[in-house]
Amino acid sequence: MTRTTCPYCGVGCGVAVMDGMPRGDEAHPANFGRLCSKGAALKDTLALPDRLIAPTIDGKETSWDAALDLIAGEFLRIREQHGPEAIAFYVSGQFLTEDYYVANKLMKGFIGAGNVDTNSRLCMSSSVAGHVRAFGEDVVPGCYEDLEEADLVVQVGSNMAWCHPVLYQRLMAARARRGTKIVNIDPRRTATAETADLHLAIAPGTDVLLWSGLLAYLSNQNAIDGDWTARHVNGLAESIAAAHAMAPSLAMTAAACGLKVEDVRAFYALFTGTERVVTLYSQGVNQSASGTDKVNAIINCHLATGRIGRAGMGPFSLTGQPNAMGGREVGGLANQLAAHMGFLRQDIERVGRFWKSPGMAKAPGLKAVDLFDAAHDGRIRAIWIAATNPADSMPRAARVREALARCPLVIVADAWPTDTTKLARVVLPAAGWAEKDGTVTNSERRISRQRAFRAAPGQARPDWWMFTEVARRMGFAGAFSYRGPADIFREHAALSAFENNGTRLFNLGALADLDDAAYDALAPVQWPLPRLGQAGPRLFARGGFSTPDGRGRMVPLQMRLQEGSADFPFTLNTGRIRDQWHTMTRTGRVPRLMTHVAAPALALHPADAAARGVTDGALVKVESAQGSTVIRACLDAGLRLGEAFLPMHWTDQFSSSGPAGRLVHGLTDPISGQPDLKGTRVKVAALSESWRGVLLRLDGAEPEIGNKVWWAKSPLTAGVAFQLTGWRALAEEIDSEPVLRRLLGISADAELISYSDTRQGTFRYAGITHGRLTGCAYFAAPGAALPHSDQARALLGREITAMQRIALLAGLTDSGAKENGRIVCSCFSVSEAAIRAAMRKDGLTTPAGIGAVLKAGTNCGSCIPELKKLLALEPRQLEESR
Ligand code: SF4
Repeated sequence: MTRTTCPYCGVGCGVAVMDGMPRGDEAHPANFGRLCSKGAALKDTLALPDRLIAPTIDGKETSWDAALDLIAGEFLRIREQHGPEAIAFYVSGQFLTEDYYVANKLMKGFIGAGNVDTNSRLCMSSSVAGHVRAFGEDVVPGCYEDLEEADLVVQVGSNMAWCHPVLYQRLMAARARRGTKIVNIDPRRTATAETADLHLAIAPGTDVLLWSGLLAYLSNQNAIDGDWTARHVNGLAESIAAAHAMAPSLAMTAAACGLKVEDVRAFYALFTGTERVVTLYSQGVNQSASGTDKVNAIINCHLATGRIGRAGMGPFSLTGQPNAMGGREVGGLANQLAAHMGFLRQDIERVGRFWKSPGMAKAPGLKAVDLFDAAHDGRIRAIWIAATNPADSMPRAARVREALARCPLVIVADAWPTDTTKLARVVLPAAGWAEKDGTVTNSERRISRQRAFRAAPGQARPDWWMFTEVARRMGFAGAFSYRGPADIFREHAALSAFENNGTRLFNLGALADLDDAAYDALAPVQWPLPRLGQAGPRLFARGGFSTPDGRGRMVPLQMRLQEGSADFPFTLNTGRIRDQWHTMTRTGRVPRLMTHVAAPALALHPADAAARGVTDGALVKVESAQGSTVIRACLDAGLRLGEAFLPMHWTDQFSSSGPAGRLVHGLTDPISGQPDLKGTRVKVAALSESWRGVLLRLDGAEPEIGNKVWWAKSPLTAGVAFQLTGWRALAEEIDSEPVLRRLLGISADAELISYSDTRQGTFRYAGITHGRLTGCAYFAAPGAALPHSDQARALLGREITAMQRIALLAGLTDSGAKENGRIVCSCFSVSEAAIRAAMRKDGLTTPAGIGAVLKAGTNCGSCIPELKKLLALEPRQLEESR
């Protein structure tokens, strides 16, 4: 058995692999055997098609030597001619700590610039900045057990039921045992909000006011812990004064936050009256133009009450990516240096001594948004992008693509082709999750080993190896003589302890002497480590902050609100959905993970949609000052009026709608530099459609189709399916049989069978090659129903019988079964239609009852919030679904 970790979210679940089959690791303290829907589908990602398996230069396959020599030579030349600041690395929270360490050392210690930034800038850099302001160091003070020991859990800007599902289930299990109260603060009524005792649908951007109002309320109620704050905290009086000035009354606070007074009062009273409070926060807090202030507004309330570092209490930042925390420990953000040291002169000199650096970076580098701006205007002349896809995920994605097109040397290391690899001069094939060795750190500071259990395909190599080889070729062989990740980890641990007299809590010195076997066997370990003073899973209960005087810092805050815009009346929120990860490089290729949500859609409140003549599923044009797209709408009464929500995952590879980043503005938090990914102003207009369709192709290729057609692609067990909608006449899109054959992906000698009913506006085609179904398309005019395609999907690539031919053109199944439709439980492929039918037929009233009949929700449990939502439907709503 190989013990490793899940490569997706920051919960950091342990995975045990036996006979090549990944399962939840019952011994891992993050998950105790549980995995969510994404983790449970890891086995389906092991042999995905389209891997990058050889280095390429200018699109031509080459050797590693040629690619690495070119990179090293160009780096030396550019550094000589334009200075070290003309070179940049943009890396990833998907990196292992060892990858991060080598990239960071090469850039900051040997190339001599600070330009290493990471996609974690988009994820949690506001939490980092808030921690440093309050604690003097980027430290999460609590642990997962606190969620189970709290009497009140406040979730802020966190849809943890979908984004941190295993941790959410730990919380739900604890609540069932001890009756934990849950308050959810989120503009959207998400799956997580559905299960809260109190949901505060806050107006976007007003969190600082709500939390300052709480601080003022705590002060009015004499609920400040005077003794503790006197011993351990600075800034109390100033922060309380600022809170009173900002939030003079509860009524004013509630009105400005768009909330009912009684709800705000109930939240404040719960927080005030409950000793054991954990506040969980995530991207709704971080991805904001005032993200750092939001973090400090939350921490202020915990510091003022002394509710930190004890069982069941504290502020808790939920990290998005599997190793964003490890990157923070290494110093992988441009404004950090290394090992929780910054760019103070003594830190630069200390790290320089340790690395024996020939020329250290003297100042912080460029943060992500500024970094791509610098590539756009020619200041950056070489950029190495690894394990991330900024052509889709960055704000102002079109400008980022322009920047990469202009930059003389773009190097991209990845395991699969992406919209970013298309823009690279040099593409390097990277080893993937199952093929790499190293460590990751999860949201509760727990370091776990990720262990390889498969050989990397072709010439794919780990990222640390690529950076090491380039460093050697640049003349730094002595400082980059690593034989493997164990060497790198030992050096990383030693640096954290180097000249560390206790001022830096991040200190892995006790692990610096691990031999290779001990590194291989390393069990999950949480820092601070047991033999180094502040040991244990919690910090700061007795002070001991990483500030010069050891005291925590409350921060007096002011609220900064963004202006509205009459031209762009909607606020666009972007975020994750349950079964997808980032830009879908892996999860978008797994059929069962695409059955829950098969296509991107812009969610609108039904009243906003009705005011614009938009119906559920209709096409809309969405426009911001940065760009526009066409996409289907979906109605969601859980949104506030004037707000829209768009999943962050889809790219040009998976839908004509392209990435959400194309719309998102470039505004950032002034302290952390984190982009405001949830506050772009947009306008939305209905687009009248001419036809709808579904296209199935065995060859998996994208259809050649005009630019007046919206499409979204999802993989099938064999081939792919496309949803299509056109806004000019179908006859203009498909005006001849050769065009139809190209659309179906069949050759001129393949058999083409068809059925058409021009009066009804329905057209059906199937391409059969040597008796096997190789392509199929159904089209329908607006108002006409598209036939079921489940049977055609199942038959794609298989030999078909005469009856099946007839059924295909009739749009029926040969068994007469109904179409499944949307899948709710992806572990057991249980559809919403099947669940509703069973609820009606068997009178089911609990998720356990549904599980007993259909198995839904009995494996990973990620769908349980949706089961509860279905169970909450009125009988009339159930009937409507018949
Ligand atoms: S919660 Fe899910 S995605 Fe996150 S680490 Fe665990 S199994 Fe992976």
